[in-house]
Amino acid sequence: MYDLLVRNGKLVTPDRIYEADIAIQDGKYAAFLAKGTEAEAKEVIDAKGNYVFPGIIDCHAHLNEPGFEYREDFETGSRAAVVAGCTCLIDMPLNNDPSLMNKEIFDLKLSKVSRHSLVDYALWGGLVGDYDNKPDSVKNNINDLVDLYNCGVAAFKGFTCPNGDLFPTVNLGNVRKALEILKPYNALCGFHCEEYGQVLEREKEAKSKDNRTSEEKIRDFLDSHDVWTEYVATKNVIDMARATGGRVHICHVSHPMVAQVVKDAIHEGLPITAETCPHYLGFTEDFVFEKGAPAKCTPPMRNKEAMEKLWDYVLDGTLSCIGSDHSPAADEEKDNATKDIWHAWGGLNSIQFFLPMMFDMVVHKKGFSPSLIAKVMDYNPAKVFGLYGRKGAFELGFDGDVVIVDPDKSWKCDQSKLLTKGHVSCFDGLEGKGAPVCTVIRGKVVADGQTYIPDAVGYGEYITPVN
Ligand SMILES: [Zn+2]
Repeated sequence: MYDLLVRNGKLVTPDRIYEADIAIQDGKYAAFLAKGTEAEAKEVIDAKGNYVFPGIIDCHAHLNEPGFEYREDFETGSRAAVVAGCTCLIDMPLNNDPSLMNKEIFDLKLSKVSRHSLVDYALWGGLVGDYDNKPDSVKNNINDLVDLYNCGVAAFKGFTCPNGDLFPTVNLGNVRKALEILKPYNALCGFHCEEYGQVLEREKEAKSKDNRTSEEKIRDFLDSHDVWTEYVATKNVIDMARATGGRVHICHVSHPMVAQVVKDAIHEGLPITAETCPHYLGFTEDFVFEKGAPAKCTPPMRNKEAMEKLWDYVLDGTLSCIGSDHSPAADEEKDNATKDIWHAWGGLNSIQFFLPMMFDMVVHKKGFSPSLIAKVMDYNPAKVFGLYGRKGAFELGFDGDVVIVDPDKSWKCDQSKLLTKGHVSCFDGLEGKGAPVCTVIRGKVVADGQTYIPDAVGYGEYITPVN
């Protein structure tokens, strides 16, 4: 007698789609049965011929706890994630206070978030440069990286451009040192790549212009963060990977020029991986002009030609992962009426439509197989972040995660109904087809269509790399 049987589904893997029933026992996949095989279970879910994925991993999400719970906490962020089909997310160390930069803070963070996550989660550890206001002995967290690694963080995240006092920028010396220290552990370092000097100088010049209309300010913002800032920073950190042999992950690649740099490095044999996000694959700077503050993020959305070309790098495996980069804000921080583009929060409320948006783009707009989703939103992230062995595939003994997706189910983003804490999203009004109808984590239903299961609050487990 199994705990759970998922019948009549089409199982989606990176290579193929096939009909089979899934049996789950003690939270793990216990058997994959030919469709219709006699079997008994305490609970049976009829997938009704829909697609079934072995999970969806959001490898780049900011849930803001501890410190900025007024924007989001693990309960509100993760309930939105599970209705979007997420079975695991990897939370960022910044937009936290304190940022996740040592073991003590790790313990604090885990004690808070473990109380109320619905989704399984891994953590990015912080990699920070020098704090201006601390004594020389604790200027940065280079000496805390191995401790954090031993806490089981899935990767380390550093910022190459200004990002506020709580998460100081890394210089190339910090990057090089971190890669040297982490290389023996084969640990992964991810970077937000925008080059410090260009962003600083170009923003300063743009902000000093008088009498700019709100539209001109948007143009100035986009120009201050143009592709050259991302391109140079990406080349720099890749050079540090070349110098040290350390593993580098390029976060949220927004432009094909940057993706080509990554592709060349991979062909050279360097240990480089990279991700992109739904908003760079489906939206352009026209969208930023249309929506204003709610669509502000960095790197910003690019032009149409760049957006179309970026798909080539998803298809050829250069951009092997897709993350939401959900980076929530309080409503007033994204409000066009009170905030111009310079003063608005830079980050998108996007997690609740992560899979629906990608499914609509990949399957309905581009005409690609759902297998691409299994690859870039589950299998590859599991491999890159060391979670394969528990997550990322229909393999016996892996976590019994199941995401049932109805390919024809229509959806519409209504920001007033978001489960996140904030209710301003640039995707308000967006419509598409293809949405999860059931999300199962380790054999337990955590979301049923667009509703999360209240008793799943606190069910999510901390996941550490297994390889
Ligand atoms: Zn981010």
